[in-house]
Amino acid sequence: MEIAVFSAKPYDRDYLDAANAAHGHRLKYFEVPLDGETVGLAAGHGAVCIFVNDNADAAVLEALGHGGTKLVALRCTGFNNVDLNAARDLGIKVVRVVDYSPNSVAEHAVALLMAINRKIHRAYNRTRDFNFSLDGLMGFDLCGKTVAVIGTGKIGRVFGKIMLGFGCDVIGYDTFPSPQFEAMGARYAMPGEISVSADVISLHCPLTPDTYHIIDADALSRAKRGALLINTSRGGLIDTEAVINALRSGQLGGLAIDVYEQEAGVFFRDLSGTIITDDMLQRLVTFPNVILTGHQAFLTREAVTTICETTLQSVTDFESGKPLANEINAG
Ligand code: NAD
Repeated sequence: MEIAVFSAKPYDRDYLDAANAAHGHRLKYFEVPLDGETVGLAAGHGAVCIFVNDNADAAVLEALGHGGTKLVALRCTGFNNVDLNAARDLGIKVVRVVDYSPNSVAEHAVALLMAINRKIHRAYNRTRDFNFSLDGLMGFDLCGKTVAVIGTGKIGRVFGKIMLGFGCDVIGYDTFPSPQFEAMGARYAMPGEISVSADVISLHCPLTPDTYHIIDADALSRAKRGALLINTSRGGLIDTEAVINALRSGQLGGLAIDVYEQEAGVFFRDLSGTIITDDMLQRLVTFPNVILTGHQAFLTREAVTTICETTLQSVTDFESGKPLANEINAG
């Protein structure tokens, strides 16, 4: 099948080309994201392959349909950037990668937590300048602390399991509790208990209308003073302005994020040397107790291999009329 791959980076090409040896699709790579201005590039391609910050809203999907696209293949898990109702009405199928290495994201969340707690980012910068002072680098033992996992799905459970290994009391909140979460030694708690007792809160739920700004000024005011907040899920889970205020007042002890609400157009690009016009992003990076990575939690060899193989298998299944194991349907 002809596949238009948007937001294509060098590693996308390498891993998709390698996976395509088993499929023989014709891949056309576009560095630009899919949006209202670029959608014309997809004309004549039966499938488009998109990533987290591509925009498949109703207007874009309509243009895709006119161009002959029948399948939108997300090479990621989250699908908040696709209008599923519009896709259904247009007869365009949507697939995603439901299950790739949850370890990749969970381990990155742990890396962020360890770095923000033990100030590794600051120590790294200091020692490169032969500054071996320890002032301001005090952290806390994770062993014995309470870690809250919001969203105890595949990634949240792996994260929780690693935290149990650190000797933490792992509590969770999920609208669909999982027996596996409790079986591994964690327990569910109500939001009230989480607020009062969590030293660390890590977000692992999808971005939906229900979870939009789940961490807002109110939630932050109820949290334990000095708690650390980790977000490797989606930027829209956090009200950034409220978080900045909580960092300023010391209510929030630290923030480590791999995702940012306004990341589209900024992340996945080298903007060094340019003026960043997003004041909130500018502000965030000035805090010594904030670490930001650019949506790289998925970026391990194992995860990207699985993502590419699964994506191309979905396209092959679609082409041969087989059931689509990873199809997303409008709710
Ligand atoms: P999953 O579907 O296995 O788990 C998500 C869990 O969140 C489910 O158990 C669900 O019931 C729960 N949930 C839904 N609404 C909730 C709510 N209102 N409150 C609490 N819990 C709620 O998904 P997953 O594979 O674990 O992925 C989780 C998220 O991680 C994805 O949605 C995606 O946004 C993000 N992600 C980020 C990266 C990255 O590179 N940073 C990579 C992959 C996934």
